[in-house]
Amino acid sequence: MADASSLYNSYNRIPLRFERGEGVWLITEDGERYLDFASGIAVNALGHAHPHLVEELKKQTEKLWHTSNLYQSPGQERLAKRLTDVTFADRVFFTNSGAEALECAIKTARRYFFSKGEPDRFEIITFDNAFHGRTTTTVAAGGTDKYIEGFGPKAPGFTRVLFGDLDAVKAAVSEKTAGILIEPIQGEGGIRAADHAFLRALRTLCDEKGMLLIFDDVQGGVGRTGKLFSYEASGVAPDIMAVAKGIGGGFPVGACLATEEASSGMVAGTHGSTYGGNPLAMAAGNAVLDVVLADGFLEHVRDVALVFRQGLESLKDRFPKVIEEIRGEGLFLGIKTKTPNADLLAAMREEKVLGVLAADNVIRILPPLTTTAEEARDGINRIEHALERVQQAAG
Ligand SMILES: *Cc1c(COP(=O)(O)O)cnc(C)c1O
Repeated sequence: MADASSLYNSYNRIPLRFERGEGVWLITEDGERYLDFASGIAVNALGHAHPHLVEELKKQTEKLWHTSNLYQSPGQERLAKRLTDVTFADRVFFTNSGAEALECAIKTARRYFFSKGEPDRFEIITFDNAFHGRTTTTVAAGGTDKYIEGFGPKAPGFTRVLFGDLDAVKAAVSEKTAGILIEPIQGEGGIRAADHAFLRALRTLCDEKGMLLIFDDVQGGVGRTGKLFSYEASGVAPDIMAVAKGIGGGFPVGACLATEEASSGMVAGTHGSTYGGNPLAMAAGNAVLDVVLADGFLEHVRDVALVFRQGLESLKDRFPKVIEEIRGEGLFLGIKTKTPNADLLAAMREEKVLGVLAADNVIRILPPLTTTAEEARDGINRIEHALERVQQAAG
């Protein structure tokens, strides 16, 4: 057995060793099967070993892996065209991760004002409990102090206010404000959705003050909410949007999307990435879109989401001592517990069903978008048994 002791201790890893995956199932080295409602933290949008993704990636591995961004990239052009065709955006920059997509979004906003002769306009308003990644800049943009502590001076240029507090946002705006950065639905923060009215008010405020509205849809994007991108439900389009996780279906891919205007400062030489948008990543991203954009796919997500929603709501009614609230949209769901969330998650693991912890005592339920209604019901049954365990233990 491999020894993990040479690794950084920066993760508290669950002692499970997965060897392979099949659709919604993860299989350990010992052959135990787990229903994967974690999806690698909203990444395996099409489950594991999806035949179309496997096929497209196999084809690409035999042709070309990497050329760098020194040359033209047909794969990037194709994926960018497809993304801009179905969103508010006109331009795309490809990255390898969510944090890098956010870095690009932040740089794009600041550079926009720089190029307009307003170099002091670099501040970005951000929110409590927000999560935007783990780079030194994105932790400063995030809303969790423990992620910032001990890493030297906090990156300047972010003003944090209470999530959902329009007055606080207005009070934070100054002549230095470049934009507002928000997750339409906070993921790590505990599946907390911003009111649509709040998002509309942010849009109005940005328009009035000439600021840029930046959405972080890294976790909620690419069909997870039942819409292609989560902003669609609110009718509020951003100027810039960071995407990652689901877009690669398990291959590291991120993207920063922007309007022509918002991206206008990002001229040649302003930004770069060696790997960003490499041919393997683009094969994965295009293959994911083949499936997600196919007729009826998002309807399937919304249908199966209803099975989850109804199942979880009825569990909430049956276990009022354990469950406080069911949150979220589509397959971007949260169970807020009254008992410690880690206890329920551990009990779920005993029942061979996986979820992910979030802040605010929440367990995220993030099934592959390809989950069938039958698999959903299987999962709800397992969660029910886990709740029985927790209820029993609580007495
Ligand atoms: C996961 C996540 C990120 C960071 O993505 P990485 O790929 O881990 O860098 C940023 N924003 C949100 C909303 C996320 O969920």
